[in-house]
Amino acid sequence: MIAAAVAGVFAAPEAVYAEAGAQGMVAEAAEADAQGAASEADAGEVPGGEEPRVPRISVAVEGDGLTVSWAAPGAAGVAGATGDAGAAKDASSYQVYRSYKSDSGFKLLQKGIKGLSYRDREVASGKRAYYKVRAVMSDGTAVYYPEIASGIIYRVYIETGHGRDIKGVWDPGCIWKKYQEARLMIPICKATAKYLRQKGVYVYTDAFDGNNRNLKWTLKQLKKKDYSVLLNVHCDSRNAPKGTMPLYRYSKQKKLARCLNKGVHQYVKIKDRGLKKRKDLDTLNKTKKYCTACLFEAGSIKRDNKILRKKYDAYGKGLAKGVCDYLGIDW
Ligand SMILES: [Zn+2]
Repeated sequence: MIAAAVAGVFAAPEAVYAEAGAQGMVAEAAEADAQGAASEADAGEVPGGEEPRVPRISVAVEGDGLTVSWAAPGAAGVAGATGDAGAAKDASSYQVYRSYKSDSGFKLLQKGIKGLSYRDREVASGKRAYYKVRAVMSDGTAVYYPEIASGIIYRVYIETGHGRDIKGVWDPGCIWKKYQEARLMIPICKATAKYLRQKGVYVYTDAFDGNNRNLKWTLKQLKKKDYSVLLNVHCDSRNAPKGTMPLYRYSKQKKLARCLNKGVHQYVKIKDRGLKKRKDLDTLNKTKKYCTACLFEAGSIKRDNKILRKKYDAYGKGLAKGVCDYLGIDW
C-alpha cells in the first residue's frame, strides 16, 4: 500500500520540480499573472497563487506509527543540494532523522535504507515529530533533502473493565440478574474505538477480543509503546446510585475525567454523579508515568442497565469525543 501511495504521489510531476528549481522564472510569471488578472482575483483566485507543490518528503499515520516517504533525488530535484542534477540521481541508500523540534535535536533513526519510505513505530504519541532525510550517493557523499516534514500520531489504549485476566481466569466484575459488568462494557468500548479510529487515532483495545486483557497486560504494553491516554471502562454495582462517575487521582487525570464526562453527557441522557478522586486504584497509580488514565464508571449495572445496553453507540461516541477534547483533536 505504501509503495503504491509513494508512486502515486511522486511519479507524475517532474515538471513541478523543474519549476520549483527555477524560482526566478516562477516569480516573474506570477507577477505578470497578477497584473493582468484583477477580475480573476475578484473571482476568488489568489493573485500570483502558486501551483500546488508536491512535497518531496511526506509523513502519514500508518497503523501505530508514522511513515515517512520521499522521492528519489533524480525525480525530486534534491540534486539541487549538490549543485549537480546528474550526480544525485544514484542514491545508494537513505538515512532518516527525527526530532520533536523543527530546528534542532535531530537524531538518526535508521541508516542504510534502500527503499523510499521508513516506518517509525517508536515515535511518541501526541507530539509533533519532524523528519529529515539524507541521501547517500554511490560515491559516498551524502546530502540532506532541503525540506523537513512533520506528522503526529495519537495512541489511545482502551481497556474494557474486568474480563479475562492474564492467566485466563474470567472476572465478571459486578453482576445484576444475568448481566455482567465485563460483558456489558464491551459494546461501549467497541463504539469508543470506532469513533476514535474515524478521527485517525490509533486505538489498542481488548474490546474486539472478548475483553481478554487486564491491567497487568496493559502495564506491559504501556511500557513498550507510548500512549497518550488509557481509558478503563467500568460500571458500578447494583447498589450504586444512577449516573456517571469518572475516577481520577492526579491533575491531568482530572482534566481527562472532566472531558470524558462532558462528552458522555453530550450524547447520552444519564445522571451525573460528578468526578471522584481515588487514591487506591492501580489503574490511576501505576500508569501515571506512562500516560493519562481515567477509570470511567459508566453507571449502575441495575439502575442504568437499559442505557448501558441500548445506548452503547452514543456512549462510545461521547467517550471518544471526550478523548478528542482532551488531546486537542478536532471533532
Ligand atoms: Zn469494575
